[in-house]
Amino acid sequence: MLRTALLAAGRSRACRAVVERAPVTREVVARYVAGSTLEEALGAVAALTTDREVTLDHLGEDVTDAAQARATVDAYTRLLAELARTGLAARAEVSVKLSAVGRLLPRDGDKIALDNARRICAAAAEAGTTVTLDMEDHTAVDATLGVLAALRADFPDTGAVLQSYLRRTEADCRDLSGAGSRVRLCKGAYDEPESVAYRDRAEVDRSYVRCLRILMRGAGYPMVASHDPRLIAIAGRLAEDAGRGPADYEHQMLYGVRDREQRRLAAEGRRMRVYVPYGDEWYGYFMRRLAERPANVAFFARSLVSR
Ligand code: FAD
Repeated sequence: MLRTALLAAGRSRACRAVVERAPVTREVVARYVAGSTLEEALGAVAALTTDREVTLDHLGEDVTDAAQARATVDAYTRLLAELARTGLAARAEVSVKLSAVGRLLPRDGDKIALDNARRICAAAAEAGTTVTLDMEDHTAVDATLGVLAALRADFPDTGAVLQSYLRRTEADCRDLSGAGSRVRLCKGAYDEPESVAYRDRAEVDRSYVRCLRILMRGAGYPMVASHDPRLIAIAGRLAEDAGRGPADYEHQMLYGVRDREQRRLAAEGRRMRVYVPYGDEWYGYFMRRLAERPANVAFFARSLVSR
């Protein structure tokens, strides 16, 4: 229930105004967000890439005006040019939400999002790196996979995200397990109805294992996005069973979450990529992170009252 309430608050303007104004918010947000500027994000990337790889997210979502969508594309092209200039592109790619580049615009949203995502993919290709399309709530899945297919015609290494809480995901894993495909498998971060999603945590985990088995046995490149120690151990075993070596798949975790485990996996010789968000539009992302872990909410609430 708390999770549902927090995810609903993550889409409420009134709650946003309260949370953004709370004096303590910045400190808590800083755990999960690498800074508001490109320079701050690049500082975090330089530190992380000594032993890990990264994927950068210029924060923003649910954009409803075309100018803002274009501004997001410009932010990504500037970021990619900087990654190329500084040599960081060898260890850094970018993650993009289609709703940040126009998918929800009232007219031609899907086409605008595709055109904008194409510009980001072209900039990434020029920088020598790749793009992964984040996955949003279940109403976005068909449109996102449609854009992915169109992008892959020109940029075959564009990655997708699939969410094990969705009942459809095993079938999507099969469709995306072919050669050249890059799939980030996560549990899923939105509040989804029972009709389309497993609501029980154990069922979501079992689905994760079934999906990961399909991806590991396939010919693509699986990206294991989870902090769950059990799933991390299972991923290692499934990779071994499928005859995959450490270079044939990777682990992914979020900036600010289980940093010691990230470093441990990297030191073991596993590929470890950190998802690094930056920018001012952190509200929706931050509320999803609070919803993932009740202890975060208690910490946040305590800091609010102790001021
Ligand atoms: P959980 O069971 O939630 O967590 C396992 C353990 O990890 C917890 O016990 C805790 O110790 C730690 N942990 C997990 N989350 C937090 C947190 N927020 N703060 C502190 N500790 C925490 N979801 C989408 O819907 N679409 C996406 O495109 C997407 N991209 C992602 C990209 C990456 C690289 C990662 C790692 C996750 C992404 N997610 C995305 C989020 C994902 O769906 C889950 O909500 C999130 O990863 C928590 O699931 P978990 O597998 O870590 O397992």
